[in-house]
Amino acid sequence: MTERIFNFSSGPAVLPLPVLVQVQRDLVALPGIGMSVMEISHRSVPFEAIIGKAEADIRTLANVPDGYRILFLQGGASLQFSMVPLNLLTEGRTADYLMTGTWADKAVKEARRVGTVHETGSTAADGYNRIPTDAECTFTPGAAYVHMTSNNTIEGTQWQRLPGADDGPLVSDASSDIFSRPIDISKYGLIYAGAQKNLGPSGVTLVIIREDLLGRSSPSLHTMLSYAIQAENGSLYNTPPVFGVYVLGLVIEWLLALGGLPAIAAINERKAGKLYAELDRTGFWRPTAQKDSRSRMNVTFRLATEELEKAFVKESTAAGFDGLKGHRSVGGMRASIYNAFPEDGVDRLIEFMRDFEGRNG
Ligand SMILES: *Cc1c(COP(=O)(O)O)cnc(C)c1O
Repeated sequence: MTERIFNFSSGPAVLPLPVLVQVQRDLVALPGIGMSVMEISHRSVPFEAIIGKAEADIRTLANVPDGYRILFLQGGASLQFSMVPLNLLTEGRTADYLMTGTWADKAVKEARRVGTVHETGSTAADGYNRIPTDAECTFTPGAAYVHMTSNNTIEGTQWQRLPGADDGPLVSDASSDIFSRPIDISKYGLIYAGAQKNLGPSGVTLVIIREDLLGRSSPSLHTMLSYAIQAENGSLYNTPPVFGVYVLGLVIEWLLALGGLPAIAAINERKAGKLYAELDRTGFWRPTAQKDSRSRMNVTFRLATEELEKAFVKESTAAGFDGLKGHRSVGGMRASIYNAFPEDGVDRLIEFMRDFEGRNG
């Protein structure tokens, strides 16, 4: 097999090696089917089994209660920025948006095109380096919904509690930390995630929606944009992203075999814990997120000068690490260590960091 390097990409991101190996092995012909998953009808018995198992495994993995529907859509998390308000922000109501980063900014922009929006809890003045406290957030009584971004991929912050909203269903953009730790689905009205960070390849978007919210989808909504129609048709109104659903299903199987969400959460805590401990060890490194807001998925940090940061990115690439450059909008460095990122890669990065500090500190 071709040598794999340590891939810190923020997305599309590293996939579990056993999943890639299985995809490669079964790509030309699914066992017992004799055709590739990409070549069979989405209405065939084998594909129905694939999508059915993916859904059942998600229900097991995340303890999804009865009364929730699981959808496999397209258009990425970005289309959900539109679909959420188009379906849920009904006439005369207000949607609350928790403003915690670049992706929340993009989400609220689409909601504004649809209806009335109340932005709250913004930490923009601090460069989005933290999650707001409850005291900083105000919620609209009877809000259509409250939108949060559970993990802020670019700024490296993550909610470690649920926001204090007690009115209006919680809608969470969980694109970059879905299934990285246990989650109480019953606390949410809707959860969405583009697959390409923690679930599989790009092209498929997972939506978990409480059934009563389907009643809000107006019959005048365009068919493909309606949660109600997508749910009625079991995500098969049109051709779904068959390959993406298949790989996503394998990733869920991999998570279950690992011991489920408590097991992956323990691994993620250990990986992030080591890396933050190294960043805190001396003043050489400058982790950017405030301590109580730190993401377990995207670890963001800077160095004293941009020259040093450039040298770090260049030398780390030469040393066999990829994707450590921070998002172009914020600069610095970012180590994305999603579920599938191997712990060994974190250990190797820390070794490299010590060496780099020794030479430049
Ligand atoms: C990557 C990302 C998005 C955008 O996802 P697409 O699938 O590319 O549209 C939205 N929200 C968050 C939190 C993300 O990390």
